[in-house]
Amino acid sequence: MKTSIVTLSGGQDSSTTLAQAIKDSQVVGAIFYHYGQRHEVEAQAAAFFAKHYCIPLEVVNVTAFQELGNSGLVGDGQITGMHPTLKHLPASFVPGRNLVFLTLAAAYAMRMGATQVWTGVCQTDFSGYPDCRRNTMDALEHSVRLGMDFPEFEIITPLMFETKAETFARAEHLGMLELMLEHSHTCYEGDRTLRHAWGYGCGQCPACALRAKGYEEYLSSKHR
Ligand code: ZN
Repeated sequence: MKTSIVTLSGGQDSSTTLAQAIKDSQVVGAIFYHYGQRHEVEAQAAAFFAKHYCIPLEVVNVTAFQELGNSGLVGDGQITGMHPTLKHLPASFVPGRNLVFLTLAAAYAMRMGATQVWTGVCQTDFSGYPDCRRNTMDALEHSVRLGMDFPEFEIITPLMFETKAETFARAEHLGMLELMLEHSHTCYEGDRTLRHAWGYGCGQCPACALRAKGYEEYLSSKHR
C-alpha cells in the first residue's frame, strides 16, 4: 500500500476523496490552503474531516492569490457570471490556484514520506476549470518528478471522470454519505443555516446549484 497525503478543501469532492484514500492507501496527512476565501466554514469543515479520520492537517497560507485578485472567489468580485479576463470560464476561477496548491502538496508529501497526493479535482461536470483536468495533472506530476527529483511522485484523482451524482454514490459506497452531507461545505456564500437533503447552503449560488442537481440525479439513479 502506498503512502499518501490528501488535499482537503472541506467540500464534497475532497472529503469523499479523503475517504477513498483512507481505504486504498496509507494516509499520513492532509493539507488545507488559506488563499483568501470569503468564509471560515471551509477551514472548519476540513478540520472536521481530518479529525474524524485521525490524520494531521497542515494549514498553509497562500494569500498571494488575494493580492493578485482576478477571481470572484477572492476579494470582493462578483461570484456569478463569467471570469473578468477568461470570458469562457466562470467568475470563480482563480488562475494558477491548483498549479500552486498541488506543488505545495507535493512538497508536503515529500516531507511526510508520502509518494502520492490525492485530490478531488474532476473534469466531468465541474465548472470547466482547466486546472482540474487530468492532462493538467499529468503535466504537473511530470514537473514535480523532474523539478523536485521525486521520480515516484503520483497525483491520484479518483473523481476525475465522475459526475456529481456518481460522487454521491461513491460516498454512499464508502459508508460516509451522511457524514459528508452533514459536514462538508460547498456553498460560495458560506451559508450554514439552510439544510437541504444535499447538505447546507444558500441554494442559489453556482456551487449549491451543482451540488443540488447532482444529488437529485443520484437519487433518481438509485430508483431506476
Ligand atoms: Zn450557495
